[in-house]
Amino acid sequence: MANMFVRSARVLHGGAMNENQHRVQHVDVAVVGGGAAGLSAGLVLARSLRSVVVIDAGEQRNLPAGHVHNFLTSEGWTPGEIVATGRAEVESYGGEVIVGRVVEAVAQEGDHPSFVLGLDDGRSVHARRVVIAAGATDRLPDVPGLAERWGRDVLHCPYCHGWEVRGRRIGVLATSPNALHQVGLFRQLSEHVTLVAGDVELDHHALMNLRVRGVDVVRETAAEVLVTDDRLSGVRLRGGEVLELDALVVAPFFEARADVATQLGLAVKELEM
Ligand SMILES: Cc1cc2nc3c(=O)[nH]c(=O)nc-3n(C[C@H](O)[C@H](O)[C@H](O)COP(=O)(O)OP(=O)(O)OC[C@H]3O[C@@H](n4cnc5c(N)ncnc54)[C@H](O)[C@@H]3O)c2cc1C
Repeated sequence: MANMFVRSARVLHGGAMNENQHRVQHVDVAVVGGGAAGLSAGLVLARSLRSVVVIDAGEQRNLPAGHVHNFLTSEGWTPGEIVATGRAEVESYGGEVIVGRVVEAVAQEGDHPSFVLGLDDGRSVHARRVVIAAGATDRLPDVPGLAERWGRDVLHCPYCHGWEVRGRRIGVLATSPNALHQVGLFRQLSEHVTLVAGDVELDHHALMNLRVRGVDVVRETAAEVLVTDDRLSGVRLRGGEVLELDALVVAPFFEARADVATQLGLAVKELEM
């Protein structure tokens, strides 16, 4: 119990020294993260007459993409438009959206368990319940030039952005055997698909099937993503050869933004996808 007191005291007085230093807000529910998930939770809770605050650091995973697709009623909107509209909907029912980051979280046990969240501007939110909707970040393959094109013409999801590159020259960069699955999906959208297989071990029969379906397989690794006039124009292979492309598909490693969860004592477990 003493330890708990020390930890919560640290939350209440931690963070930057400014006028918010001692401001404590009490709510039924605090939602950590204001992307699609957190704002949806905030909307439902506000409409259920809970006092709710959504705290969002504004780093939605899809921000690098120009437009959002397959999101019924918001087809083709920018990620920013969806966030702005979602925030307004939460606020229209009395929910509050705070633009800021939760930097410290403490669970308080006892007869009435609750949570204290410390924000980066020094204020604190005291909540009876917490929803963690902090999303994930994408760890990308380490190829020079690749990260700069992420969400534009370096893609991962055939449903999000496949239509935009239909019929074009698409490379799939293998970082695991799952690349075969991505090749199969993108092959439905274009006849010009090349698997840059590198030294990833791939099932022999699956590779034969791809070749039968007209997929080129290159047994080399990518050295550099090439850009011409602000468009991806190809990939330079380790051997020096240039593969001309319009889009490159990768499979990022999804890393949960788990800081708040781990501070509350939750363990992070790796899942194979
Ligand atoms: C490039 C790209 C394009 C995509 N395009 C599409 C598409 O066209 N259609 C589609 O359906 N899906 C698309 N997706 C998937 C979509 O982006 C995700 O499914 C969606 O963003 C998940 O929403 P979320 O609320 O879980 O997480 P996010 O949108 O990532 O939101 C999480 C929020 O939590 C905040 N946060 C994290 N930690 C804290 C903290 N400690 N304190 C405060 N805030 C915090 C983050 O800053 C972020 O704003 C795309 C994904 C990527 C990477």
